[in-house]
Amino acid sequence: MIIVLAQESTAEDRQHIVDVIKTHGLDVHISIGKERTIIGVIGDESKIENLPLEIFSGVEKVMQVTKPYKRVSREFHPDSSVITIGANRDGTVSTKIGGEHFSVIAGPCSVESEEQIIATAIAVKKAGATALRGGAFKPRTSPYSFQGHGLEGLKMLSAARTATGLPVVTEVMDTRDVELVSEWADVIQVGARNMQNFNLLREVGISRKPVLLKRGLAATIEDLLLSAEYILAGGNEEVILCERGIRTFEKAYRNTADLAAIPIIHELSHLPIIFDPSHSLGKRTHVTTLSCAAIGAGCDGLMIEVHLNPEVALSDGPQCLTANQFEKCMMKLKPFVELTGKKL
Ligand code: PEP
Ligand code: MN
Repeated sequence: MIIVLAQESTAEDRQHIVDVIKTHGLDVHISIGKERTIIGVIGDESKIENLPLEIFSGVEKVMQVTKPYKRVSREFHPDSSVITIGANRDGTVSTKIGGEHFSVIAGPCSVESEEQIIATAIAVKKAGATALRGGAFKPRTSPYSFQGHGLEGLKMLSAARTATGLPVVTEVMDTRDVELVSEWADVIQVGARNMQNFNLLREVGISRKPVLLKRGLAATIEDLLLSAEYILAGGNEEVILCERGIRTFEKAYRNTADLAAIPIIHELSHLPIIFDPSHSLGKRTHVTTLSCAAIGAGCDGLMIEVHLNPEVALSDGPQCLTANQFEKCMMKLKPFVELTGKKL
Protein backbone atom coordinates (compact mmCIF):
# COMPACT_ATOMS: atom_id res chain seq x y z
CA MET A 1 0.00 0.00 0.00
CA ILE A 2 1.19 3.52 -0.69
CA ILE A 3 -0.16 6.66 0.91
CA VAL A 4 0.26 9.77 -1.18
CA LEU A 5 0.34 12.90 0.94
CA ALA A 6 -1.31 16.12 -0.16
CA GLN A 7 1.04 18.98 -1.04
CA GLU A 8 -0.26 21.01 1.90
CA SER A 9 0.25 18.15 4.38
CA THR A 10 2.46 18.88 7.37
CA ALA A 11 5.32 17.02 9.04
CA GLU A 12 2.95 16.34 11.97
CA ASP A 13 0.39 14.74 9.61
CA ARG A 14 3.15 12.49 8.26
CA GLN A 15 4.42 11.54 11.68
CA HIS A 16 0.93 10.70 12.91
CA ILE A 17 0.30 8.37 9.95
CA VAL A 18 3.68 6.67 10.44
CA ASP A 19 3.06 6.21 14.17
CA VAL A 20 -0.38 4.69 13.63
CA ILE A 21 0.95 2.26 11.02
CA LYS A 22 3.88 1.26 13.23
CA THR A 23 1.62 0.59 16.21
CA HIS A 24 -0.05 -2.06 14.03
CA GLY A 25 3.33 -3.78 13.62
CA LEU A 26 4.05 -2.65 10.06
CA ASP A 27 7.04 -0.80 8.67
CA VAL A 28 7.14 2.25 6.42
CA HIS A 29 9.33 3.60 3.67
CA ILE A 30 9.11 7.36 3.22
CA SER A 31 10.02 8.99 -0.07
CA ILE A 32 10.15 12.78 -0.01
CA GLY A 33 10.19 13.71 -3.67
CA LYS A 34 10.25 16.96 -5.58
CA GLU A 35 6.50 16.87 -6.15
CA ARG A 36 5.07 14.51 -3.57
CA THR A 37 5.77 12.71 -0.33
CA ILE A 38 4.85 9.06 -0.37
CA ILE A 39 4.60 6.66 2.53
CA GLY A 40 5.05 3.04 1.48
CA VAL A 41 3.67 0.43 3.85
CA ILE A 42 5.62 -2.79 4.31
CA GLY A 43 4.31 -5.86 6.08
CA ASP A 44 1.05 -7.68 6.59
CA GLU A 45 -1.45 -5.12 5.31
CA SER A 46 -4.42 -7.14 6.50
CA LYS A 47 -3.61 -5.71 9.96
CA ILE A 48 -4.61 -2.21 8.79
CA GLU A 49 -7.38 -3.06 6.34
CA ASN A 50 -9.99 -1.44 8.55
CA LEU A 51 -7.97 1.68 9.15
CA PRO A 52 -9.61 4.61 7.26
CA LEU A 53 -6.30 6.12 6.12
CA GLU A 54 -8.06 8.07 3.33
CA ILE A 55 -9.60 10.40 5.90
CA PHE A 56 -6.42 11.01 7.91
CA SER A 57 -5.25 14.61 7.85
CA GLY A 58 -2.78 15.27 5.02
CA VAL A 59 -3.66 12.20 2.95
CA GLU A 60 -4.42 12.74 -0.72
CA LYS A 61 -5.00 9.12 -1.72
CA VAL A 62 -4.26 5.54 -0.75
CA MET A 63 -3.28 3.06 -3.44
CA GLN A 64 -2.65 -0.67 -3.47
CA VAL A 65 0.71 -1.94 -4.75
CA THR A 66 0.31 -5.12 -6.67
CA LYS A 67 4.03 -5.79 -7.22
CA PRO A 68 5.78 -8.28 -4.91
CA TYR A 69 8.69 -5.87 -4.44
CA LYS A 70 8.09 -2.61 -2.61
CA ARG A 71 11.20 -0.68 -1.64
CA VAL A 72 12.71 -0.97 -5.12
CA SER A 73 9.48 -0.02 -6.87
CA ARG A 74 8.95 3.34 -8.50
CA GLU A 75 5.54 3.47 -6.86
CA PHE A 76 7.25 3.70 -3.46
CA HIS A 77 9.91 6.10 -4.70
CA PRO A 78 8.89 8.07 -7.83
CA ASP A 79 12.19 9.96 -8.25
CA SER A 80 15.14 8.09 -9.80
CA SER A 81 17.78 7.22 -7.23
CA VAL A 82 21.24 8.63 -7.73
CA ILE A 83 24.02 6.61 -6.14
CA THR A 84 27.35 8.18 -5.32
CA ILE A 85 30.32 5.85 -5.44
CA GLY A 86 33.75 6.51 -3.99
CA ALA A 87 32.45 9.05 -1.47
CA ASN A 88 34.10 9.35 1.95
CA ARG A 89 37.43 8.04 0.79
CA ASP A 90 40.28 10.52 0.68
CA GLY A 91 41.90 11.01 -2.68
CA THR A 92 39.09 9.27 -4.55
CA VAL A 93 37.10 11.11 -7.21
CA SER A 94 33.53 10.18 -6.42
CA THR A 95 31.12 9.58 -9.27
CA LYS A 96 27.34 9.48 -9.50
CA ILE A 97 25.21 6.84 -11.19
CA GLY A 98 21.53 7.35 -11.99
CA GLY A 99 19.24 10.23 -12.85
CA GLU A 100 21.08 12.58 -15.19
CA HIS A 101 24.47 11.01 -14.45
CA PHE A 102 26.22 8.47 -16.65
CA SER A 103 29.17 6.43 -15.50
CA VAL A 104 31.57 4.05 -17.22
CA ILE A 105 33.17 1.35 -15.09
CA ALA A 106 36.10 -0.23 -16.90
CA GLY A 107 38.96 -2.59 -16.18
CA PRO A 108 40.08 -6.17 -16.47
CA CYS A 109 38.01 -9.21 -15.67
CA SER A 110 40.54 -10.24 -13.00
CA VAL A 111 43.13 -8.34 -11.03
CA GLU A 112 46.30 -10.14 -12.13
CA SER A 113 49.13 -8.09 -10.63
CA GLU A 114 49.67 -4.66 -9.12
CA GLU A 115 51.48 -3.44 -12.25
CA GLN A 116 48.66 -4.71 -14.47
CA ILE A 117 45.83 -3.11 -12.49
CA ILE A 118 47.61 0.24 -12.03
CA ALA A 119 48.55 0.48 -15.71
CA THR A 120 45.00 -0.45 -16.73
CA ALA A 121 43.51 2.06 -14.28
CA ILE A 122 45.68 4.83 -15.73
CA ALA A 123 44.68 3.88 -19.29
CA VAL A 124 40.93 3.67 -18.64
CA LYS A 125 40.95 6.90 -16.68
CA LYS A 126 42.72 8.67 -19.54
CA ALA A 127 40.01 7.44 -21.89
CA GLY A 128 37.26 8.81 -19.61
CA ALA A 129 36.24 5.91 -17.36
CA THR A 130 34.77 7.05 -14.05
CA ALA A 131 35.41 3.86 -12.04
CA LEU A 132 37.73 0.86 -12.14
CA ARG A 133 36.60 -2.77 -12.10
CA GLY A 134 38.61 -5.92 -11.44
CA GLY A 135 37.87 -9.24 -9.79
CA ALA A 136 39.82 -10.43 -6.75
CA PHE A 137 37.38 -13.25 -6.01
CA LYS A 138 36.41 -14.83 -9.32
CA PRO A 139 33.36 -17.03 -9.96
CA ARG A 140 34.77 -19.47 -12.54
CA THR A 141 32.83 -22.22 -14.25
CA SER A 142 35.79 -24.58 -13.89
CA PRO A 143 37.50 -25.15 -10.53
CA TYR A 144 40.80 -25.39 -12.43
CA SER A 145 40.57 -21.86 -13.87
CA PHE A 146 42.24 -18.86 -12.17
CA GLN A 147 40.16 -18.09 -9.07
CA GLY A 148 41.54 -14.60 -8.32
CA HIS A 149 44.13 -13.29 -5.87
CA GLY A 150 41.65 -12.72 -3.01
CA LEU A 151 42.85 -10.26 -0.36
CA GLU A 152 46.07 -9.58 -2.31
CA GLY A 153 43.90 -8.63 -5.29
CA LEU A 154 41.91 -6.20 -3.12
CA LYS A 155 45.17 -4.55 -2.04
CA MET A 156 46.26 -4.25 -5.67
CA LEU A 157 42.93 -2.58 -6.52
CA SER A 158 43.44 -0.21 -3.64
CA ALA A 159 46.88 0.71 -4.99
CA ALA A 160 45.28 1.43 -8.38
CA ARG A 161 42.72 3.67 -6.67
CA THR A 162 45.50 5.56 -4.91
CA ALA A 163 47.36 5.95 -8.21
CA THR A 164 44.37 7.26 -10.16
CA GLY A 165 41.64 8.37 -7.74
CA LEU A 166 39.16 6.05 -9.48
CA PRO A 167 36.62 4.34 -7.20
CA VAL A 168 36.87 0.55 -7.43
CA VAL A 169 34.21 -2.05 -8.08
CA THR A 170 34.89 -5.68 -7.18
CA GLU A 171 32.90 -8.85 -6.64
CA VAL A 172 32.14 -10.58 -3.37
CA MET A 173 31.13 -14.24 -3.58
CA ASP A 174 31.03 -15.37 0.02
CA THR A 175 29.10 -14.03 3.00
CA ARG A 176 32.28 -14.39 5.06
CA ASP A 177 34.10 -11.91 2.80
CA VAL A 178 31.51 -9.12 2.73
CA GLU A 179 33.14 -7.12 5.50
CA LEU A 180 36.61 -7.51 4.01
CA VAL A 181 35.53 -6.55 0.49
CA SER A 182 33.48 -3.59 1.82
CA GLU A 183 36.58 -2.29 3.55
CA TRP A 184 38.70 -2.30 0.40
CA ALA A 185 36.15 -1.59 -2.33
CA ASP A 186 33.94 1.38 -3.16
CA VAL A 187 31.23 -0.78 -4.72
CA ILE A 188 30.64 -4.43 -3.89
CA GLN A 189 29.49 -6.49 -6.83
CA VAL A 190 27.14 -9.43 -6.58
CA GLY A 191 27.70 -11.43 -9.75
CA ALA A 192 25.15 -13.10 -11.98
CA ARG A 193 25.75 -16.53 -10.44
CA ASN A 194 25.01 -15.19 -6.97
CA MET A 195 22.00 -13.04 -7.79
CA GLN A 196 19.77 -15.41 -5.85
CA ASN A 197 22.23 -16.24 -3.09
CA PHE A 198 19.85 -14.87 -0.49
CA ASN A 199 22.28 -15.11 2.40
CA LEU A 200 24.78 -13.04 0.43
CA LEU A 201 22.06 -10.52 -0.46
CA ARG A 202 21.14 -10.20 3.22
CA GLU A 203 24.78 -9.68 4.14
CA VAL A 204 25.40 -6.95 1.56
CA GLY A 205 22.09 -5.44 2.72
CA ILE A 206 23.65 -4.89 6.14
CA SER A 207 26.78 -3.37 4.62
CA ARG A 208 26.95 0.35 4.02
CA LYS A 209 28.67 0.17 0.64
CA PRO A 210 26.87 0.62 -2.68
CA VAL A 211 26.10 -2.72 -4.32
CA LEU A 212 26.24 -3.57 -8.02
CA LEU A 213 23.73 -6.37 -8.51
CA LYS A 214 24.04 -8.26 -11.79
CA ARG A 215 21.10 -10.04 -13.35
CA GLY A 216 21.29 -13.82 -13.07
CA LEU A 217 21.88 -16.01 -16.09
CA ALA A 218 18.28 -17.22 -16.10
CA ALA A 219 16.60 -14.58 -13.99
CA THR A 220 13.51 -12.64 -14.95
CA ILE A 221 13.34 -8.90 -14.39
CA GLU A 222 11.05 -9.57 -11.42
CA ASP A 223 13.61 -12.01 -9.95
CA LEU A 224 16.26 -9.30 -10.25
CA LEU A 225 14.07 -6.69 -8.57
CA LEU A 226 13.17 -9.10 -5.76
CA SER A 227 16.86 -9.77 -5.18
CA ALA A 228 17.43 -6.02 -4.97
CA GLU A 229 14.52 -5.87 -2.51
CA TYR A 230 16.48 -8.17 -0.16
CA ILE A 231 19.32 -5.63 -0.09
CA LEU A 232 17.06 -2.64 0.46
CA ALA A 233 15.09 -4.52 3.11
CA GLY A 234 18.39 -4.95 4.99
CA GLY A 235 18.76 -1.18 5.09
CA ASN A 236 21.15 -0.64 2.18
CA GLU A 237 19.36 1.51 -0.40
CA GLU A 238 22.39 2.04 -2.62
CA VAL A 239 21.85 -0.61 -5.25
CA ILE A 240 22.86 -0.33 -8.88
CA LEU A 241 21.33 -2.97 -11.16
CA CYS A 242 23.22 -4.44 -14.10
CA GLU A 243 21.89 -6.16 -17.21
CA ARG A 244 24.60 -8.51 -18.50
CA GLY A 245 22.70 -10.80 -20.85
CA ILE A 246 20.69 -13.93 -20.16
CA ARG A 247 20.86 -17.52 -21.39
CA THR A 248 18.81 -18.23 -24.47
CA PHE A 249 19.05 -20.78 -27.32
CA GLU A 250 21.27 -18.36 -29.29
CA LYS A 251 24.87 -19.49 -29.60
CA ALA A 252 26.38 -16.77 -31.77
CA TYR A 253 27.45 -14.89 -28.66
CA ARG A 254 27.76 -15.68 -24.96
CA ASN A 255 24.48 -14.31 -23.58
CA THR A 256 21.48 -12.53 -25.06
CA ALA A 257 21.56 -8.85 -24.14
CA ASP A 258 18.06 -8.03 -22.96
CA LEU A 259 18.08 -4.35 -23.83
CA ALA A 260 14.32 -4.09 -23.34
CA ALA A 261 15.00 -4.77 -19.65
CA ILE A 262 16.53 -1.28 -19.38
CA PRO A 263 13.41 0.85 -20.06
CA ILE A 264 11.22 -1.73 -18.32
CA ILE A 265 13.35 -1.53 -15.17
CA HIS A 266 13.25 2.26 -15.30
CA GLU A 267 9.49 2.03 -15.44
CA LEU A 268 9.25 -0.42 -12.54
CA SER A 269 12.04 0.79 -10.28
CA HIS A 270 13.82 3.95 -9.16
CA LEU A 271 17.19 2.15 -9.02
CA PRO A 272 19.81 2.91 -11.67
CA ILE A 273 20.48 0.23 -14.25
CA ILE A 274 23.77 -0.13 -16.10
CA PHE A 275 24.70 -2.46 -18.94
CA ASP A 276 27.64 -4.84 -19.35
CA PRO A 277 28.25 -5.49 -23.06
CA SER A 278 31.40 -7.57 -22.39
CA HIS A 279 29.74 -10.45 -20.54
CA SER A 280 26.73 -10.23 -22.87
CA LEU A 281 28.80 -10.75 -25.99
CA GLY A 282 31.70 -12.85 -24.75
CA LYS A 283 33.83 -11.32 -27.49
CA ARG A 284 35.16 -7.84 -28.06
CA THR A 285 33.63 -7.25 -31.47
CA HIS A 286 30.43 -5.21 -31.21
CA VAL A 287 31.06 -4.05 -27.61
CA THR A 288 30.86 -0.45 -28.85
CA THR A 289 27.77 -1.05 -31.00
CA LEU A 290 25.90 -2.79 -28.23
CA SER A 291 26.93 -0.08 -25.76
CA CYS A 292 25.46 2.58 -28.06
CA ALA A 293 22.23 0.57 -28.27
CA ALA A 294 22.07 0.30 -24.48
CA ILE A 295 22.62 4.06 -24.13
CA GLY A 296 19.73 4.53 -26.55
CA ALA A 297 17.63 2.25 -24.34
CA GLY A 298 18.36 4.61 -21.43
CA CYS A 299 20.99 2.82 -19.32
CA ASP A 300 22.66 4.84 -16.56
CA GLY A 301 26.13 3.56 -17.27
CA LEU A 302 28.26 0.79 -18.69
CA MET A 303 30.66 -1.79 -17.36
CA ILE A 304 33.29 -2.68 -19.95
CA GLU A 305 36.17 -5.14 -19.65
CA VAL A 306 39.55 -3.77 -20.71
CA HIS A 307 42.91 -5.57 -20.75
CA LEU A 308 46.18 -4.06 -21.93
CA ASN A 309 47.15 -7.38 -23.50
CA PRO A 310 44.06 -9.58 -23.85
CA GLU A 311 46.16 -12.42 -25.32
CA VAL A 312 47.64 -13.14 -21.90
CA ALA A 313 44.58 -12.30 -19.77
CA LEU A 314 43.91 -14.83 -17.02
CA SER A 315 40.16 -14.60 -17.64
CA ASP A 316 37.80 -13.33 -20.35
CA GLY A 317 40.59 -12.19 -22.71
CA PRO A 318 38.44 -12.60 -25.85
CA GLN A 319 35.87 -10.07 -24.64
CA CYS A 320 38.32 -7.46 -23.32
CA LEU A 321 38.97 -4.30 -25.30
CA THR A 322 42.56 -3.11 -25.52
CA ALA A 323 43.32 0.37 -24.14
CA ASN A 324 43.29 1.75 -27.66
CA GLN A 325 39.98 0.11 -28.51
CA PHE A 326 38.49 1.38 -25.26
CA GLU A 327 39.57 4.92 -26.04
CA LYS A 328 37.89 4.71 -29.45
CA CYS A 329 34.82 3.17 -27.87
CA MET A 330 34.55 6.05 -25.38
CA MET A 331 34.87 8.63 -28.15
CA LYS A 332 32.05 6.95 -30.04
CA LEU A 333 29.82 6.66 -26.97
CA LYS A 334 30.05 10.24 -25.76
CA PRO A 335 27.73 11.84 -28.35
CA PHE A 336 25.16 9.10 -27.71
CA VAL A 337 25.26 9.84 -23.99
CA GLU A 338 24.87 13.56 -24.70
CA LEU A 339 21.86 12.85 -26.91
CA THR A 340 20.09 11.21 -23.99
CA GLY A 341 20.65 14.36 -21.92
CA LYS A 342 22.88 12.59 -19.40
CA LYS A 343 26.28 13.78 -18.23
CA LEU A 344 29.39 11.58 -18.53
C1 PEP B 1 32.23 -10.09 -13.79
O1 PEP B 1 31.70 -8.98 -13.92
O2 PEP B 1 33.42 -10.21 -13.51
C2 PEP B 1 31.42 -11.30 -13.93
C3 PEP B 1 31.87 -12.48 -13.54
O3 PEP B 1 30.23 -11.09 -14.51
P1 PEP B 1 28.88 -11.94 -14.42
O4 PEP B 1 28.62 -12.19 -12.98
O5 PEP B 1 27.90 -11.01 -15.08
O6 PEP B 1 29.10 -13.20 -15.21
MN1 MN C 1 34.79 -11.26 -16.84
